[in-house]
Amino acid sequence: MEDCLFCKILKKEIPSTKVYEDEKVYGFVDIYPMSKEHYLFIHKNHTSNVNEMSKATPNEIGEVYQAISKYTESNELSKNGFRVVTNVGPDAGQTVFHTHFHVLGGEKLGRFGS
Ligand code: 5GP
Ligand code: ZN
Repeated sequence: MEDCLFCKILKKEIPSTKVYEDEKVYGFVDIYPMSKEHYLFIHKNHTSNVNEMSKATPNEIGEVYQAISKYTESNELSKNGFRVVTNVGPDAGQTVFHTHFHVLGGEKLGRFGS
């Protein structure tokens, strides 16, 4: 999508630090980390949030989660633990409207909520 930040990252118009890539999914370091390790996993096909994705292309949810599993099992994250978060809409503070899954870990995480 033309004006989408994460589509620009996929097209390499904006640089990013890649941690994972396959045919369908891209994983990269979040520029403002909220924990010691903070990655964003996105599908290469643009949708605006997980609800749209679940209606338009539900298989993509599985594809992104499979990529997260592969990645976290290739390092210490799976053993030590991690959290996956996807923000939808204003109350959750979604700022980028290309569906993305935050992968947080690398340290003991606090409880989530408001
Ligand atoms: P949201 O708030 O929409 O759930 O998450 C968007 C995330 O994208 C934020 O955690 C923010 O730090 C990250 N982000 C915003 N712009 C960039 C960028 O240009 N590069 C990278 N790597 N992450 C970004
Ligand atoms: Zn996009």
